[in-house]
Amino acid sequence: MTDIKPLFDEAPIMKEPIIIAGPCSAESEKQVLDTAKELAAGGVKIFRAGIWKPRTMPGCFEGVGIAGLPWLIKVKEETGMKVGTEVASKSHVISALSAGVDIIWIGARTSASPFAMQEIADTLQEMGRDIPVLIKNPVNPDLDLWIGAVTRIYNAGIRRIGVIHRGFSSYGKHIYRNQPMWALPFEFARRFPNIPVICDPSHISGAHDLVAPLSRHALDMGFDGLMIESHCNPECALSDAKQQLLPSELVALVKELKVREKPTGTPELDALRSEIDQIDHELLELLAKRMGVSKKIGEYKKAHNMMVVQLGRHDTIMKERTETGEKLGLPKEFTGKIMSSIHEESVKRQL
Ligand code: PEP
Ligand code: MN
Repeated sequence: MTDIKPLFDEAPIMKEPIIIAGPCSAESEKQVLDTAKELAAGGVKIFRAGIWKPRTMPGCFEGVGIAGLPWLIKVKEETGMKVGTEVASKSHVISALSAGVDIIWIGARTSASPFAMQEIADTLQEMGRDIPVLIKNPVNPDLDLWIGAVTRIYNAGIRRIGVIHRGFSSYGKHIYRNQPMWALPFEFARRFPNIPVICDPSHISGAHDLVAPLSRHALDMGFDGLMIESHCNPECALSDAKQQLLPSELVALVKELKVREKPTGTPELDALRSEIDQIDHELLELLAKRMGVSKKIGEYKKAHNMMVVQLGRHDTIMKERTETGEKLGLPKEFTGKIMSSIHEESVKRQL
């Protein structure tokens, strides 16, 4: 894929970083236009809004459908922004392109389905339009599946291609809604250096307060841009209410990101640092999980009138853990300190 073209030819839009912003879902003409106008006034050049929403559970808001397309066209006419929406089927592609959207993206549930990807690719080929297409990573951490989805679009003749890293689903409670697993987008960028890789901190974090730090982190690591959700009234959003920024917050964030200097690290060093960050998050999640189990043990002991600290058990644990640590190359003293500290906190949870 050496003949990839820029997403758009206009230089002001392609000024680094590429910023795409807008609500998770288009809900009404007013909500779409109110959000868009504030974003445009703050310098955002590419607007997003989902009109077909792939929801995990039936019965949730599944988007306004084609009724939302004229709203997007109105945004384009009234603000001059490029407008984009998510497509997942032949009929979506036909409707979106016929209405005149400027850019389309393929969501994480769709990019995981080769049948859906081929249907979209075939439709784009039949329509023969040079529209920019962004492909989100599939929900599961499968790099080949992601590359396969991109290749289908490329084989359909599309040359304005970008990808979006939105993290990967996993079971259980975590700090982030979708695990970043940074190694995957880095490996994608290494293999396809001329395809822009955009980070979606909204869907990775799933939390309003984590969007700004994650956006900074992504740009520091060398991502080519950001797709961030923004809603004029986030608390009342019909989808992804917890992760959307007010347009004013988004504009302030983007301004701050633009003035930041590039860090002095190298891509290799940044990749290794990200790996450390990811491992630290996992360690913290595991510690929190361990404390949850300690609490349950405490409740059990209370209910059965047992003492909190049982010295024999503590000694056995320390001996076993330091030995296991040694086998893994960790000095006895180091493992001992960590385990003592964990044990101390566990005891507190049981009191
Ligand atoms: C979205 O962009 O609103 C969306 C549904 O994203 P994803 O496919 O990443 O879940
Ligand atoms: Mn969303």
